[in-house]
Amino acid sequence: MLDARPPQTPLVQVRDLKMYFPIYSGLFRRHTGDVKAVDGISFDILQGETLGLVGESGCGKSTVGRALLRLYEPTAGNVVIGGTDVATLAPEALRRARPQMQMVFQDPQASLNPRMSLADIIGEPLNEHTDWDTAKKLARIYELMDAVGLNRKFANRFPHEFSGGQRQRIGIARALALKPKFIVCDEPIAALDVSIQAQVVNLLEDLQDEFGLTYLFISHDLSMVRHIADRVAVMYLGRVAELSPRDDLYARPLHPYSEALLSAVPEPDPSLARRRERIILKGDVPSPANPPKGCNFCTRCPRVMEICTQVKPDLAEVEPGRFVACHLYSDTNAAGKTGASGAKEHNQQGESQ
Ligand code: SF4
Repeated sequence: MLDARPPQTPLVQVRDLKMYFPIYSGLFRRHTGDVKAVDGISFDILQGETLGLVGESGCGKSTVGRALLRLYEPTAGNVVIGGTDVATLAPEALRRARPQMQMVFQDPQASLNPRMSLADIIGEPLNEHTDWDTAKKLARIYELMDAVGLNRKFANRFPHEFSGGQRQRIGIARALALKPKFIVCDEPIAALDVSIQAQVVNLLEDLQDEFGLTYLFISHDLSMVRHIADRVAVMYLGRVAELSPRDDLYARPLHPYSEALLSAVPEPDPSLARRRERIILKGDVPSPANPPKGCNFCTRCPRVMEICTQVKPDLAEVEPGRFVACHLYSDTNAAGKTGASGAKEHNQQGESQ
């Protein structure tokens, strides 16, 4: 299990989080297995930090976001947000804790009630969690509209009267209504036109500076994550493969899966771009209902060793601040048991080329 203890106090501490969805089959609907969407992941998010969570679709990253906020009931594990373990809170205590943790959803069209006006949508959390009078609520709604760049004149309009980018601004304003500390941004730009994606990301960054927010930014868009995240966790088949500071990860990915994933991302630095080789992975991602016995990536890894098919590697700190779940980085295997020259050596060579 991860034993990451960064010098600053983390706002969010996730430990061994599991989210299994049961499979029932047969005449009597017997429990015959589980889809292991999230299978024991651990990480911290520091106060004011943006942690990017990346991976191919179906790797479990959105499930992590929902389990963190108890939109799903986690199967196991701890999710401590601001000192409270929200994974184990009783319903009423969870309701009281909701204001400090919010979510910005992928599809603003689907997440906004078409029958509610903009003011009603943004004011809904205030109705739920405060006893403010109408004037105080309206003042807060206007304040939020100003913060996200929506004209106050639009307060009585309905979602269908806005563009996709404006609808996402409404969703962000609603998420901010109760002054949360932590926001999960679940693919917040994926449904938007490319031309306005940067505007929404810049808005999220400005709001973070203004209100001291902490983000988990879930995305399959590695270029956008490079822009916004301080550190990045790479997920594969329900587990974290690598967790590294952003610049280190993009300059020199350590895990073979991170290497393959990032080899497809356009590299702005010409000297790094020249060295980079596109890695095409063979085969399909295994089913999360039946993951491999050993390393989850062993069926596709170009550097697979015998131990990889037998033993699941733990996420371990292999360089200061860099965590990798791979047997190439355990001292007993880096010496090249299977003919590989060892991952540490491999990466040092990569640096000196
Ligand atoms: Fe590849 Fe083995 Fe490392 Fe998994 S543990 S990523 S299979 S080398």
